[in-house]
Amino acid sequence: VKEEGRNNFSFYSNGLNESAKKRLIMEKEMYVALEAGHFEVFYQPQVNLKTNKIIGAEALLRWNHPQKGLIRPGKFITLAEETGLINPISTWLLNTVCAQLHIWQQTDLPSITVAINLSPRQFMQNDLYQRINQALINHQVQTGSLKVEITENLMIKDIERVTQTLLDIKALGVSIAIDDFGTGYSSLSTLKNFPIDQLKIDKSFIEQLNLDENANSLIQTIIALGHNMHMDVVAEGIETLEQLNCLKAWNCDVMQGYYFSRPLPVAAMTALLHRENMP
Ligand code: C2E
Ligand code: CA
Ligand code: CA
Ligand code: CA
Repeated sequence: VKEEGRNNFSFYSNGLNESAKKRLIMEKEMYVALEAGHFEVFYQPQVNLKTNKIIGAEALLRWNHPQKGLIRPGKFITLAEETGLINPISTWLLNTVCAQLHIWQQTDLPSITVAINLSPRQFMQNDLYQRINQALINHQVQTGSLKVEITENLMIKDIERVTQTLLDIKALGVSIAIDDFGTGYSSLSTLKNFPIDQLKIDKSFIEQLNLDENANSLIQTIIALGHNMHMDVVAEGIETLEQLNCLKAWNCDVMQGYYFSRPLPVAAMTALLHRENMP
């Protein structure tokens, strides 16, 4: 009987294909990681192009895997979205960021705005607004210091509900940015109807800067579009001085990229903020 059981087991496990098995293992590992505190928030500085000062940061999720080391979200975020695990992970991240904002706000550092990424899946929860409100209250975060980044693909279905949620979030003093602008499916008319404060030009366009004439005109067009709609424009993925100089000449507002800094663990980010604060 024992023998038979084993055979049955190996039959079924062979039946599951490799990738399905990997997904199951990773899903379980993500649960464990969340419980064990193996997720970490990195902060990538955002710099004002006119003053050259750090005015904010984007919070980026990292997974400190005990065996595999630091894992970037590209490897696990899709599975987290598909399984719904993105919701508890994001709630953890939101609270971690708010707690950190409070710590920074207790010092004499200049105030910065931190942006968190929200996936469309999170807008399917009815209590997204409540979670954000609670986190801001619990950690006594200064109004105006949290931002959320959403993608264009959020703006194509359930438009009324999503708009209402965004309006509610905005009423908390949280600003709203569209991430990866130009790569999704939104139309200009939906853009006009959403309460958006900021456009982020996707780094795929910045990569093509001065290599592709069309990329240059697209970037300039996005900057003009944002400004005409009273939005700030952020460029992400800036790696070279040449890219920086063009974006300056084209009147872009904020830059983010390896040229200035990679995403940093919280201690390094804090040190950078202190350095920036020196006379
Ligand atoms: P994203 O929101 O577009 O974030 C920007 C990504 O570009 C980050 O990758 C960042 O490390 C990378 N990056 C920044 N500057 C440069 C540069 O100069 N050159 C290059 N080549 N890359 C640069 P990361 O941290 O691996 O995150 C990848 C994506 O994972 C993010 O893209 C975002 O969509 C998602 N993500 C990250 N954290 C979260 C989170 O907390 N929640 C959700 N839902 N998604 C997240
Ligand atoms: Ca983002
Ligand atoms: Ca982006
Ligand atoms: Ca991106």
